[in-house]
Amino acid sequence: MPMPLYEFRCAECGPFDLSVPMSEVSASTRCPQCGGHARRLLTPPRLGRGGSTAMRLHDATARTASEPDVVSGALPGTSRRPSRSVTTDPRHRSLPRP
Ligand SMILES: [Zn+2]
Repeated sequence: MPMPLYEFRCAECGPFDLSVPMSEVSASTRCPQCGGHARRLLTPPRLGRGGSTAMRLHDATARTASEPDVVSGALPGTSRRPSRSVTTDPRHRSLPRP
């Protein structure tokens, strides 16, 4: 089970991520680099290390929703299908010529 990832900020070294069990997280911790005082940032905890697939999908969805040119114009699939199926499908090359 992945531990939530919290973001702390050391006054000397800057921000860093730290996995802490949810029951043991506190408002401050020791900086792993200099041992100094680091305060927890008020960001929601992230599960796992780095960007998970779910996070990337969420980001992509959010980006798509905020870009108007993606949804303007033809519906997805209707404008692309003709050029893609005629020219770039490698299976078509092995078909017998008429
Ligand atoms: Zn530090």
